[in-house]
Amino acid sequence: MAHFDLLTKIHAGEKLSEKEVAAYERVKARVDMICAEAKRKDVSVLIDAEETWIQKPVTDITRDMMAKYNTEKALVFYTFQMYAHSMLGHLKELHADAKENNYRLGAKLVRGAYMEKEAERAQEMGYENPIQPSKEATDRDFDAATEYCIQYIEDIGLFAGSHNEKSNYLVTLYLEKYGLPRDDRRVYFGQLYGMSDHISFNLANAGYNVIKYVPYGPIKATIPYLMRRANENTSVKGQSSRELTLIKKEMQRRKEAKKEFAHQDKF
Ligand SMILES: Cc1cc2nc3c(=O)[nH]c(=O)nc-3n(C[C@H](O)[C@H](O)[C@H](O)COP(=O)(O)OP(=O)(O)OC[C@H]3O[C@@H](n4cnc5c(N)ncnc54)[C@H](O)[C@@H]3O)c2cc1C
Repeated sequence: MAHFDLLTKIHAGEKLSEKEVAAYERVKARVDMICAEAKRKDVSVLIDAEETWIQKPVTDITRDMMAKYNTEKALVFYTFQMYAHSMLGHLKELHADAKENNYRLGAKLVRGAYMEKEAERAQEMGYENPIQPSKEATDRDFDAATEYCIQYIEDIGLFAGSHNEKSNYLVTLYLEKYGLPRDDRRVYFGQLYGMSDHISFNLANAGYNVIKYVPYGPIKATIPYLMRRANENTSVKGQSSRELTLIKKEMQRRKEAKKEFAHQDKF
């Protein structure tokens, strides 16, 4: 979609060459083309957030796309990484902008996947680390943000992207608290393909809207994405490793059930 170096330069407020200005115009046109086609087909576009040092142009572009295409409902979604301590305030700011300019805010909420990289760069370059001081602070803001979106659902479309069992459960409680049906078209849960199926399947089975993210693309671009997922799956603090325990428990249960059936067959 866009060269990383170009986005970095724009974020830093550096002067662009004529060629770079033209390249940025092409980036915006490409994104617009995708959003226009999505609108025609009535499918959502979720624009990811990555490193904070390329975020400004991503914010500008996504905000413009939301203002243009989210007139009736949230079709284009902006990603809020709740591990950044400024993010809850940013969510409220964009909500105010949406109200003022008469568009629906598409809020994709995640915790954020670049924590170590962010801390390293901040230290290296001598600026304040944008990441929250603890996992608990990230959890608190993630859950506060999901409640905020549900509370103001008339203006917002929510996509809660998380593998955290408690956060997903809390979203179901907030739906109940604010009197919304489980399948309200403005509220979506999302997990990555091959991860946390126990959350996705149980939510879908109970009537909630659930989306599985399926990664695709050229190997070179897909490998870093898969590496981040592999790291998360081995992280002790993450909940993903719990899934393996659940799978092992289920395999053991089936083995025992099979034995039990075999025993009953004799009679
Ligand atoms: C559908 C979907 C879409 C996604 N899209 C994006 C995206 O666009 N951009 C992006 O960056 N990520 C994205 N992610 C990844 C996401 O940001 C998380 O890295 C991942 O989901 C793990 O967090 P969790 O909510 O599942 O729960 P948990 O496993 O409970 O939380 C782990 C997360 O908590 C945070 N954390 C851990 N330790 C600390 C600490 N010491 N201090 C502060 N915070 C801490 C980190 O963000 C870490 O990733 C997406 C995830 C999903 C499910």
